[in-house]
Amino acid sequence: MRIGRFRKDGREFTGIVEGERVFALKEDLLATPFFKDSIDVERGTEEFSLEGLDILPPVNPSKIIAIGLNYKAHAAEFNKELPEEPMLFMKPPTAVIGQGEAIVYPTHMSRRVDYEGELAVVIGRRAKDVTEEEVDKYILGYTCFNDVTARDLQKKDIQYTRAKGFDTFAPMGPWIETDIDPDDVTIETYLNGERRQHTSTADMIFSVRRLVSFVSQVMTLLPGDVIATGTPSGVGKIKSGDTIEVKIEGIGTLVNTVIA
Ligand code: MG
Repeated sequence: MRIGRFRKDGREFTGIVEGERVFALKEDLLATPFFKDSIDVERGTEEFSLEGLDILPPVNPSKIIAIGLNYKAHAAEFNKELPEEPMLFMKPPTAVIGQGEAIVYPTHMSRRVDYEGELAVVIGRRAKDVTEEEVDKYILGYTCFNDVTARDLQKKDIQYTRAKGFDTFAPMGPWIETDIDPDDVTIETYLNGERRQHTSTADMIFSVRRLVSFVSQVMTLLPGDVIATGTPSGVGKIKSGDTIEVKIEGIGTLVNTVIA
């Protein structure tokens, strides 16, 4: 099942996508999901054509946790040793943008901004100290994510808050897919139509289930929270005017442009 958020004539709603049709849910559950214990998807009676809708970010998370160095080949391209346990950092929810929105290049501070195509997990139920075996029932689904990074500031600062935290540095979407096997899907990133990243999530150092379990042992995960599971090799810089696409098998393609 595909769940997304949409806008039509100024009204925002959550809907289930089936082919070119969108069926509105009774409640706009993904607008502020973290006030609830879980997200329950109940279909309403309204139906729309996907073509006539603006696609919004699929969720409005209370927090975004991201994983550094989770693919072996990416660790190698930065000459880093493989981590012994997942390396966590956070991106602010104010950085979220959705399908078709522009990444704003922070020219006042950075001279080097990179794309990082990633598979993101969306949490569906409040989770604390969850084991790998029971993780699935806490996951709502998966979406495409671009962990946009000011690489020069990442190297300059001791931690990642500034490099990863600019407004528009967390594109995600176009929607949440509930039925994929996160352990073996193909992830590709295209820069101006040219493929730059192409890997299976089977190459991850820590699996999606391991990551969700691990993070839940640090902090309570709330419905709508997002875990970006790390980028494969092939990261590279972007500039104003570029188009970046993150395509994940079984989910779809997240498309964003860059403006100065
Ligand atoms: Mg990343």
